[in-house]
Amino acid sequence: MNIPAARIYFPEDDRKTILKQIDGILDSGQLTLGKYGKEFEQKYAEYVGTKYAVAVNSGTSALEIILRALDIDDSSVIVPTNTFVATPASVIHAGGKVVFADITDNLGLKPASVRKVINKDTKAVFVVHIGGLIPPQIAEIQHLCQEHGLFLLEDAAHAQGSILDGKKAGSFGVAAAFSFYPTKVITSGEGGMITTNDENIYNRALVFRDQGKAGFLGNIHTELGYNWRLSEIHAAVGLSQFARLEQFITDRRRIARFYDTELKKADKVSPIKIPPGAKSNYYKYMAMLKDDIDRTALKKELKEKYTVSLSGEVYELPCHLQPIFKTRYGFKGGEFPVAEDLCQRHICLPVFAGMTEEQARYVVESLKEVLA
Ligand SMILES: *Cc1c(COP(=O)(O)O)cnc(C)c1O
Repeated sequence: MNIPAARIYFPEDDRKTILKQIDGILDSGQLTLGKYGKEFEQKYAEYVGTKYAVAVNSGTSALEIILRALDIDDSSVIVPTNTFVATPASVIHAGGKVVFADITDNLGLKPASVRKVINKDTKAVFVVHIGGLIPPQIAEIQHLCQEHGLFLLEDAAHAQGSILDGKKAGSFGVAAAFSFYPTKVITSGEGGMITTNDENIYNRALVFRDQGKAGFLGNIHTELGYNWRLSEIHAAVGLSQFARLEQFITDRRRIARFYDTELKKADKVSPIKIPPGAKSNYYKYMAMLKDDIDRTALKKELKEKYTVSLSGEVYELPCHLQPIFKTRYGFKGGEFPVAEDLCQRHICLPVFAGMTEEQARYVVESLKEVLA
């Protein structure tokens, strides 16, 4: 049985509808910032439970726009070291300084590590919902931010539809960034979304995404913006997937429950604990290997002998050890021991919309054989 690491899923009906809509878009001549983008924003804001949403052309753009709308300038932003490069890179693109922090065993930012690095230059803290899990310690980080007058921001690229204590990802911080890159839980081809309750961030985000223009039709530039617009074609694709989001998450949770039950019986690998109150969308199904297991060899054998592809780690190498940041900030390794350990030891089992229990069973059986 051939098990891919992920699957991009557009049912035939959806493809037909999208094609019809694209035909209409081309015929109308309104190719960007039109009704599909607006509808996507309205539905997304309503779903997340925020007043506003702004559609943009990538998750990376969403991150940078949020930071620019908050005038981060040359202040510091605290970022967990186990994240995608776009999180810290967006801080640098917005003119700020990245300050990394360590994580806890649920792969989320560790409050004590954040507290240690807060100083007079700090302006914001990014929480990243790794693998789709909103870390419950976000409450403590929220508190820290209030205490020190910092902005709490969410990189929710992994977390469309994830919930903690009844609240959706994207509604915890001052603003949140989502990604609709093809590997994410839903995709628009390329695309992203900002959610916020803050009217000022909302208004400035609209201006930033369109070259800093004060209005769509005018030619007065009040900010230094960029072309961060989402085309109508991408918005139509995104809307189609958005209508499937709950179904996709239900599928992923069903597979995750199966893995949970099966892995309880395994002794060399254990799932990341999902704390009570948290409902992951299972963008990733993350599990920890015992320290003496060689992950590279394990993945190779699973792929070559069993045709099972594990999905990409989140993340294989913490950002402070990526050459770009290691050199820039002079890290040597050992600075963030929990992240360094967990990044090295976790695996992500395949999980995707439409995955069958038979496929999941084959994954677990193959994994058990390789580990035996
Ligand atoms: C995918 C991702 C991004 C970037 O999103 P793009 O749409 O690819 O620009 C940012 N942060 C995290 C954590 C991501 O996984």
